[in-house]
Amino acid sequence: MSESLPAASNFIRQRIDADLAAGRVNGVVTRFPPEPNGYLHIGHAKSICLNFGIAEDYRGRCFLRFDDTNPEKENVEFVESIKRDVEWLGFHWDDRLTHASDYFEPLYAAAVELIEQGKAFVCSMDMEAIRASRGTLTEPGTPSPYRDRSVAENLDLFARMRAGEFPDGAHVLRARIDMASPNINLRDPVLYRIRHQRHQNTGDAWCIYPLYDFTHCISDALEGITHSLCTLEFEDHRPLYDWVLDNTSVPCHPQQIEFSRLSLGYTVMSKRMLTRLVTGGDVAAWDDPRMPTISGLRRRGYTPASIRDFCGRIGITKSDNRVEMALLESCIREDLEAQAPRRMAVVDPVKLVVTSYPEHGEEVFAAANHPADDSFGRRDVPFCREVYIERDDFMIDPPKKFFRLAPGREVRLRYAWLVTCTGYDTDEDGRVTVVYATHDPDSRGGNAPDGRKVKGTIHWVSARHGVPAEVRLYDRLFVDENPAARRDGDFRQSLNPDSLRIAAHAVVEPALAGAQVEARFQFERLGYFCVDPDNAGDRLVFNRTVTLRDAWARQQGRGQ
Ligand code: ATP
Ligand code: MG
Repeated sequence: MSESLPAASNFIRQRIDADLAAGRVNGVVTRFPPEPNGYLHIGHAKSICLNFGIAEDYRGRCFLRFDDTNPEKENVEFVESIKRDVEWLGFHWDDRLTHASDYFEPLYAAAVELIEQGKAFVCSMDMEAIRASRGTLTEPGTPSPYRDRSVAENLDLFARMRAGEFPDGAHVLRARIDMASPNINLRDPVLYRIRHQRHQNTGDAWCIYPLYDFTHCISDALEGITHSLCTLEFEDHRPLYDWVLDNTSVPCHPQQIEFSRLSLGYTVMSKRMLTRLVTGGDVAAWDDPRMPTISGLRRRGYTPASIRDFCGRIGITKSDNRVEMALLESCIREDLEAQAPRRMAVVDPVKLVVTSYPEHGEEVFAAANHPADDSFGRRDVPFCREVYIERDDFMIDPPKKFFRLAPGREVRLRYAWLVTCTGYDTDEDGRVTVVYATHDPDSRGGNAPDGRKVKGTIHWVSARHGVPAEVRLYDRLFVDENPAARRDGDFRQSLNPDSLRIAAHAVVEPALAGAQVEARFQFERLGYFCVDPDNAGDRLVFNRTVTLRDAWARQQGRGQ
């Protein structure tokens, strides 16, 4: 696995190497700065692996910093989920868990500093008017009529904003930079706004909150971040990032470096859209196994190693990072192929009666838990006269290439016996209810006594010993490759109606009876499955993580 290989180099690591070699920095400090307004998704995992991975490899440090400047949308549930997910991925922040809100006091002081230098002013236009006066890419903005307020008046108003004297929206604090700048971000951007809103971390201490562009660079500087890694949409904000640091007395000036966002086919990745799926009831929760969230992938059965492997394989560049879901799936397949014990489970059962086998007889067959690794050991699989097989492993009138069970045809019941179909019953709708067969008493263990070729091998579960289970079969959440790009903007119209099928009457071998939540298995011939947290007492619930092969690609006619 790639874990043992050195992390692949990329343009950011090359920049860091150059900075270290030139003595521009004498260590590496990074941060991962999520806004706690939703759960983390696989795109965030890319950023986490980058920031924490660089800190690990350079023996540096990485902060987990909550970018919590917008109290309306943030809450403690999101904060806790983010911590859980970062830890689960295998990264450690030690004592470096911080919040932008930890810096509200120094941020306020930096704002006062800007005011004192005549570089910030209190503007009493409303947000709408400010937006309208910003100009366009081709036309300069219009200066605010409040732009030339005196320093004394600005200091007084800003102090009274903080003291709670004004209602929401009455004033904002703006930087005083250049209304004619070709970069709209430099046209006197808003730094602070009034929000009489309780904050999940600071309570009622503040009623003015700083905006991202002002907060982020100063927080970086206060933590001694050397390389502030963010996604490409912040490239145009970099001049403002540098302007704020150049005009306030901060301890250092971190470098902002941008890389491209990950996007994944057949899903959406914006928190706004993911929130909509949860609140609209399209999925059960943020950790629904169909969600591209880290907690959803975890519940689906993904391992931390598979996600880290994926993030390593997609790399870090500045060019478009649209990746096929198949790549993520191949990472988990590869990981589970090596570490998931094998079991037999029948998802859509039909009964097979082996009429030649004694009615009350039973026996056990020893089955290897892993075909390629003896250290997994063996287990006993009980057999009796009646077993369940997969409904689609039997056909009344099969085509020539069908190597499973059909009248007159012989197959191997995995680990047990060779059986030949002798008949079947149907109900009034023609649906098969029971299949009959006889076994070859000389084929114990499934070996043909005379070396005759038996092509088909099918899995089965003893009807007497099998344990009932619910199996949840997941598919892509969307039917379109890029639902976020729909012309009508209504990405929910692209939801896949069959993204979850529940097999409520599955039967699994008794070795699975006590399986713990999150335990992962390969169900032979079916795919990889894990135990869902809904599993309780005598109710076994499994999620299908991924099929054994890329069934979707085959369906799309793209082959293997
Ligand atoms: P979203 O657009 O999903 O709401 P965000 O950027 O607003 O995401 P944050 O919580 O601010 O979410 O993100 C924290 C960090 O994760 C940021 O540094 C951001 O650049 C990075 N990040 C977010 N989405 C992706 C992605 N798809 N690929 C790579 N990095 C990402
Ligand atoms: Mg953000």
